[in-house]
Amino acid sequence: MSCPFCEISPKQLLRENEYAKAFYDLYPVQKGHTLIIPKRHFSSYFEAAEEEVLAIHRLIQEQKKALDKEFAPDGYNIGVNIGEYGGQTVPHLHVHLIPRYNGDIEDPRGGIRKAIPNIVQYP
Ligand code: 5GP
Ligand code: ZN
Repeated sequence: MSCPFCEISPKQLLRENEYAKAFYDLYPVQKGHTLIIPKRHFSSYFEAAEEEVLAIHRLIQEQKKALDKEFAPDGYNIGVNIGEYGGQTVPHLHVHLIPRYNGDIEDPRGGIRKAIPNIVQYP
């Protein structure tokens, strides 16, 4: 089975280290939307080895600094969709690093919590 993330071209790469890579999302939800993946192909965050988690974490930190310089966002969301019912569409683990901007939506309060229907009212 072909995997778009295993086939990311060197031209698309923003940065990499021993176990992870970062590149822009092809269909960004905001300017600078970046995906950080392990080099090894597997689907779930919960399958990641500790060195892969650390490698991903380091690229998140480096890419955040680069995005700060390039786009000066006002906030960020970091998120991982896990499994079909968690919303995952590409079965190669990826962390979304999403810059957020003042005014990009009318009421930002709640952030990624809004992706999921509430079961109780949040005051
Ligand atoms: P998921 O829904 O699995 O959490 O996120 C998959 C993400 O991959 C989506 O944000 C989608 O825009 C992005 N995407 C899908 N195909 C490609 C691709 O071929 N190249 C890149 N760079 N991003 C992709
Ligand atoms: Zn893959």
